[in-house]
Amino acid sequence: MSASGAWSAEAFGETLAEISASLRTLHSTELSALPSQVILDTVREVEVLRRQLDALNAKALAAAEADGLWASTGARSFAAWYRNVTGRHTGTARRQVREARVLRDQLPATAAALADGELSADHVAALTRHATNTPARRDQLTDPELGEAFLVARAKELDAADFTQLVQHWAVRTDPDAADRAWKEDSERAELTIAETTGGYHLAGWLSKIDGMALLSAVDARVGVPTADDTRTVPQRRAAALISLVRLALDGGTLKPGARIRPHLSVHVPIDTLLRMVMASRPDDCATSRDYAGAAFALEPPLDVIPADLESAQLAGAAAATLEDGTPVPHSVLARLACQSQMHRVIFGPQSEVLDLGREERLYTGAQARAIIARDRRCQYPGCNAPPFEGEIHHCLWWYAHDGPTDTGKGVLLCWYHHDYVHLHRIAIHRFLDRWRFVRPNGAVIGETVLAA
Ligand SMILES: [Zn+2]
Ligand SMILES: [Zn+2]
Repeated sequence: MSASGAWSAEAFGETLAEISASLRTLHSTELSALPSQVILDTVREVEVLRRQLDALNAKALAAAEADGLWASTGARSFAAWYRNVTGRHTGTARRQVREARVLRDQLPATAAALADGELSADHVAALTRHATNTPARRDQLTDPELGEAFLVARAKELDAADFTQLVQHWAVRTDPDAADRAWKEDSERAELTIAETTGGYHLAGWLSKIDGMALLSAVDARVGVPTADDTRTVPQRRAAALISLVRLALDGGTLKPGARIRPHLSVHVPIDTLLRMVMASRPDDCATSRDYAGAAFALEPPLDVIPADLESAQLAGAAAATLEDGTPVPHSVLARLACQSQMHRVIFGPQSEVLDLGREERLYTGAQARAIIARDRRCQYPGCNAPPFEGEIHHCLWWYAHDGPTDTGKGVLLCWYHHDYVHLHRIAIHRFLDRWRFVRPNGAVIGETVLAA
């Protein structure tokens, strides 16, 4: 385009007009009169054309934005101008403008593959959404082995669903801290409003992926299999199931202290990631590498430290654990879930065949959990009085792996809310003979709880 004089600008416009005229001719053809194979091929060919047009559109958008003439129309932004011109939704216009910019600046190989008709819009969306949103990921895209060329090659082999997961895994591996931050932001976005309205209540809200899956699996487990004469819709039966869960909880039948595992959530963790996580949660490292250690320990060293911080260096490059549907789990979420899980060892061979099924192990046995509950009696977070049936045991992964699970000094009872809070904010808990001290990563002491006599 750089050498575009008057003639080539004219030729460009003419070519576009010819394509448009050709499409009109094709459109006037009665397709059902054609041989079946030609009809099937048409679907494939149209998809290729669509991809080529998507690429041309992205290129035109990026060029038009840079050119700047659009601003003379008085539009507040380029996306607003584009929305006015096309009449599309604001969200669609913004997304396309952003994609065009990203394709031009960060994903040149992707743009070329799209222009050649080799990638679908869904594949491109996976890359523009998940691969370019942090500086570390943008850097990694230029890596000769595991950068954009690698991702584009995989995009050509995988369907959009599998490819999106691959890009999400790549993103967690490339920038684990950003994945952790995204979890924290998701948790802060969580909300539920239960508003009284005419004749009833209206529910609205938003949950993180982990919490949403937990709610859905609990509700669906209650829905059960409908009887033949059950004419209710799925949403109707879900509503009934939610209320029956509430009744069960209020009856105290399922929230007793003995039932403290999360039976509905299954997380697949590569053994290497688990071992690295154990290393990353090592309390000694927290004690020596953090500024707070000097200040907080100078007066009196704690008997134990239950850290919630993870040393990033240990986890850099580790494969992410996954939920059952393949969604990657940020490392800090995995640490949170590991506190309350059964470990179930499954060893896969090179062809993903199952070689060995280990027995289930829990990080804390029922007896140890009972001992900790008997000692703590309520959530130990300063100022919280939540009873044991609203909580669970938070403990040190490192000590479990190295000292064995026998020591109750390495576990503490926290309510669900404060268990999340401690992991989200990476709060270390120091145990002294007679009290707990809760310390933020910057060394600020949140408060102390005196151990019950
Ligand atoms: Zn925990
Ligand atoms: Zn609490």
